[in-house]
Amino acid sequence: MASGGARWGAGRPAQRLKAENATSLDVNYLSRNGHLDEGNWKRLYWRQYGEVRMEGLIKAFDRHITIDIGSTTHWLYLTRTPCHLGGYRRWFICPKCQNRMAVLYLRNRCFGCRRCQKISYQSQSGDAEDRMVWKYHTLSDKVFNWKFKKAARFNRTYDKFLDVADQFEDLVERGLQRIAMADGGYDATAIGTT
Ligand SMILES: [Zn+2]
Repeated sequence: MASGGARWGAGRPAQRLKAENATSLDVNYLSRNGHLDEGNWKRLYWRQYGEVRMEGLIKAFDRHITIDIGSTTHWLYLTRTPCHLGGYRRWFICPKCQNRMAVLYLRNRCFGCRRCQKISYQSQSGDAEDRMVWKYHTLSDKVFNWKFKKAARFNRTYDKFLDVADQFEDLVERGLQRIAMADGGYDATAIGTT
């Protein structure tokens, strides 16, 4: 662990933290790098300015993952929703509010969504992104649970959903580029961290 590690999560809980400076965990990044495949144990390194700031060991189970950071084991539950292009998309369940979330933040030694952790964005676009993800969830729930698919209203809702889903996919791509995480690869011998 790098020196200065004790500073993380320090500060008054009410103090707002900028998302750009927070330790985040992106479900799409983890999914693409095999961190969520059941049975995998993989290390994850959080880097800032090229230096490893923190590391964790992620163990993947059927419906949850555990992350060992230092001497703490965090449990995070996962869920999935169908994707309009086939397959499905995975989400974290925020341990605090139980909502589906793509990104969780570590603060005061707990993971939670941006809202629960009182984390703000440096730019205004972050709030717009949140609204878009919310819209995506609402529309995908409607589309995939629709009972009368032939109704004209379904087609209109579905068109709207496809539109939002496209923007959502763009957002995921951009999000992945933004995340300063590097994959340490499979490390079966690394049990626990020091
Ligand atoms: Zn939450």
